Amino acid sequence: MAKKQWVNLPSEDSSTVKKATFVGDGVDSADVMGRKVYIEASFDKKDATTIATLEVKPDGGNAVYEPEESKLAHDKTATAKISDEGKAKWEVKLSAAGGDKFKFAVEHQGKKKDLPDEFETHRRLFYQVIDMTGVTGLSSFGFWETEFKKNKREISLVKIASKGAIDRSYNFDYKGSEYSRLFNLAKDKYNDAKDPYCFAVVWADCLAQGPTEKVVEKTGVSKASGSVAVPLGGGQLWKNIDKASTAAPWNKMIAFIYTKDGSEQTFPIPDPDVTSTYTEITVNTRNFPEGVTGKIKAKVNVATGFHGGWSFPTQNIIVIATRGWYDRAYADSKKKAILIHESGHKIGMVPDGTGGLKEQSTYDKVHDPSKNSHCNDNACTMWWTTTYEKDVFCSVCDKSVRKVDLYAPGLQGFKRFF
Ligand SMILES: [Zn+2]
Ligand SMILES: [Zn+2]
Repeated sequence: MAKKQWVNLPSEDSSTVKKATFVGDGVDSADVMGRKVYIEASFDKKDATTIATLEVKPDGGNAVYEPEESKLAHDKTATAKISDEGKAKWEVKLSAAGGDKFKFAVEHQGKKKDLPDEFETHRRLFYQVIDMTGVTGLSSFGFWETEFKKNKREISLVKIASKGAIDRSYNFDYKGSEYSRLFNLAKDKYNDAKDPYCFAVVWADCLAQGPTEKVVEKTGVSKASGSVAVPLGGGQLWKNIDKASTAAPWNKMIAFIYTKDGSEQTFPIPDPDVTSTYTEITVNTRNFPEGVTGKIKAKVNVATGFHGGWSFPTQNIIVIATRGWYDRAYADSKKKAILIHESGHKIGMVPDGTGGLKEQSTYDKVHDPSKNSHCNDNACTMWWTTTYEKDVFCSVCDKSVRKVDLYAPGLQGFKRFF
């Protein structure tokens, strides 16, 4: 029976990270952590002071590292001097990957024999859910834990309790000051018991970009027009997004502008005569002044986009929206896809060549000019939008998930967010 080795957990205590912190939930002791393992064998005492070579024998089903990824690959051999008692002890490094199996053989003075030791590599990360009052996230995370563990990925996600829910915040915009606001809300609820191997999953309401002011016009309108549609031509009305704030109403000014006796006149259109969808305003002209033709001018606030979620590349937090425009609550299928996608980023997907793995063959350079690490397969959860609600990694990402180095003290994305 192969011994489980938790290769991403620390191999040594440091001033800030203690191995004992991570014992439990199937990790039997502090001795089964880290990529370094020790193999011992006995020899005849007369062989003392001679050198014995250990050969590492990887299983045929192990992850395959490219030459430029050699830092994440296992050692091939190690040597040790046989002691006066006839013992030899080798230190060897296993791979950073999950689900890799290793056996060992020893070679001494031309003779080779297999050793009984067997190891299997596993990884472990912790997460905690920080809910938001009045917002519905997911109640079960089994699908996620399965996705990270399957196909020999062997990333076991262990849930720990957060310190509770944050207050309702209707929107976070896609900009720095809003990130700080989110971090400030979340930090009081964050449980640091498993740091630096833990990250927070925060459920949010909207992640809308804006508000941005926009002016749209429709010419050739008169009282006789009846019902007039004024398309926004891009963006979505800033409506029901930031309910707590009155600072950003969607309707800033809607008027009928016409010329009478050589001067421009403005007729403010009464609120009951204006209806809207998220991309179009409709004006009823019943109250317009008689006998003139002019234009409808609407100054509105719009959202320029709705994000499904964010994974912060240098902070141990991901945030997931539960609502898009208007009051459209995301279905569980959408929330699941966002969770897998953002947590995929959190573990280093899609490799761009800077984190130990070489740039992935399906790295998306077309849809994602800002290089936010996406996959060019639209059937993959790492596709640049979560529109298709994919909650599984494609066969190419699968290999990267299995191979990626998850030694958390070395990962940017696992630095505390406050
Ligand atoms: Zn993404
Ligand atoms: Zn992919």
